[in-house]
Amino acid sequence: MEIIVLGSGTSHGIPVIACSCRVCRSADPRDVRYRASLLVRGSGGERVLIDAGPEFRLQAVRAGIDRLDALLLTHAHADHVHGLDDIRPLTRHRPLPVYANAATIDECRERFAYIFKETQLGGGKPSVDLRTVDPAAADGGAFSVGSLRIVPIHAKHGRLDILGWRIEEGSRALAYLTDVSFIPRSSFPLLEGLDVLVLGALRERAHETHFNFDQALETIACVAPRKAFFSHLCHDSSHEDVIAYIAARAKTDGIEYRAEPAWDGLCVTLP
Ligand SMILES: [Zn+2]
Ligand SMILES: [Zn+2]
Ligand SMILES: [Zn+2]
Repeated sequence: MEIIVLGSGTSHGIPVIACSCRVCRSADPRDVRYRASLLVRGSGGERVLIDAGPEFRLQAVRAGIDRLDALLLTHAHADHVHGLDDIRPLTRHRPLPVYANAATIDECRERFAYIFKETQLGGGKPSVDLRTVDPAAADGGAFSVGSLRIVPIHAKHGRLDILGWRIEEGSRALAYLTDVSFIPRSSFPLLEGLDVLVLGALRERAHETHFNFDQALETIACVAPRKAFFSHLCHDSSHEDVIAYIAARAKTDGIEYRAEPAWDGLCVTLP
């Protein structure tokens, strides 16, 4: 199993339009962040995308995505779903299964109403097969895509119920959890035994609907993945600033966090 970070930025991306701050003007390519998204490649050739934001087309071209077997949505905020139309070329031969919680599915039906109306014939619309998953179901809402076992993780984004995703292949496991401000106790077992955790961590300062760096580090210390990456970063800190922040906290807290900021194009193999 292999993951590719397609985007690691917060809702406005970095650089932010019309911003001339030092991070938005940075010469470090890791400070250019598209909207948050992850591609998971199974060893059987499975291709699973998590979220399709406004830059999906650019991300797909850059990563050479030529096929998708499933799209997993975390929630229906614009920065996570507004690239849905651009999956069109990947759905020519069969509808793409799109998994999300009930609220996100409803929101997508409303936001992308044209997709579900029988108005046009031909290739003008993406072909999607919406599938509601319920983490409270008896089986935890788990399903398989080829050799990948996928389990939704219930979390809160302010007052909104959102999903993180745990993906397992054999003995390997990763979890992707972004735009989270609270993880219920019942979800913690799904964060155990992780090789990789990609976790939303907006900035150093507190935020009402996102983990800040310290909250993300607390979670990482608690679930102890082999490796953790911050994602959904904003322009308050440069890539190097985030590295330095984590190092300083590790020293103060006496904890080896094994965490670093993600960057667009980061590829991690889980052997
Ligand atoms: Zn977001
Ligand atoms: Zn800026
Ligand atoms: Zn959001």
